Amino acid sequence: MLKIAFDPIYAHPLPEGHRFPMLKYELIPAQLLHEGVISHENLFSPDVLTEDIILKTHEKDYWHQLRDLTLAQKEQRRIGFPLSAQLVEREIRIAKGTIDGCNFAFDNRIAFNVAGGTHHAGSNWGEGFCLLNDQAIAANYLLDNNLSKSILIIDLDVHQGNGTAQIFENEPRVFTFSMHGANNFPSRKETSDLDIPLADGVADEEYLNILYDTLPGLIRQQTPDFIFYLAGVDILETDKLGKLALSKEACKARDKFVFEQCITNQLPVQVSMGGGYSPQIKDIVEAHCNTFKVAADLYF
Ligand SMILES: [Zn+2]
Repeated sequence: MLKIAFDPIYAHPLPEGHRFPMLKYELIPAQLLHEGVISHENLFSPDVLTEDIILKTHEKDYWHQLRDLTLAQKEQRRIGFPLSAQLVEREIRIAKGTIDGCNFAFDNRIAFNVAGGTHHAGSNWGEGFCLLNDQAIAANYLLDNNLSKSILIIDLDVHQGNGTAQIFENEPRVFTFSMHGANNFPSRKETSDLDIPLADGVADEEYLNILYDTLPGLIRQQTPDFIFYLAGVDILETDKLGKLALSKEACKARDKFVFEQCITNQLPVQVSMGGGYSPQIKDIVEAHCNTFKVAADLYF
């Protein structure tokens, strides 16, 4: 069964007036339920993470500053949200949802987190709406528990997975692949195991051909036993931050190709949503819902 991590706290950690970026987390499951793609059985509400798991990925000082709400103002500004206990709780539930998703993916081949994809968080910093790096935390969890020996992180959000790249820069068991806008945030990129920077305005055919030419060979070469997929929809032409020009159809084709590669190679995959900043919330929700629908068609 398709399992999807979602908790109401995903949508309501911010004071009134700051909520727009969080709205999608409520609307995505609502839309999938409305369309009959999923039922309430598919949704699960993750618990909070324990500190020992967080500390395998994030440095103690940084985590304690988050936990105790003592992070310096400058560091909070880098995150972009006002720090609050609820926001921190949200992040540790999201990361637990991604870990739980991995366990579901072993049974069901695929699992989702309605949120997550917090790939800008590095070992000792938060940035770009990311406090803790959910997929990095889950990848370390798999390695520590001998559930995986070789992991491939496919990050197709329009922004570079800089935090993920930094966290795993000295970890040969995790291969980080990021395809992103060359001129987009973050201005200072880290070095992934494979970076494919794209020029502004790249559209459907060029984007998909690069992916089609890259991913199968990467899987053959790295022989991962587990995949993390960061399926940001900020690659869309409607996105106000993305600078690329993909259609919703191409975004669907991207997701379909990634899932087909996972199926062909019998690789379990955990999917986190990542970014999406189209001015019309319906564009964001529709594109994210398409990722679930493509998976539902292929897997279930
Ligand atoms: Zn993004």
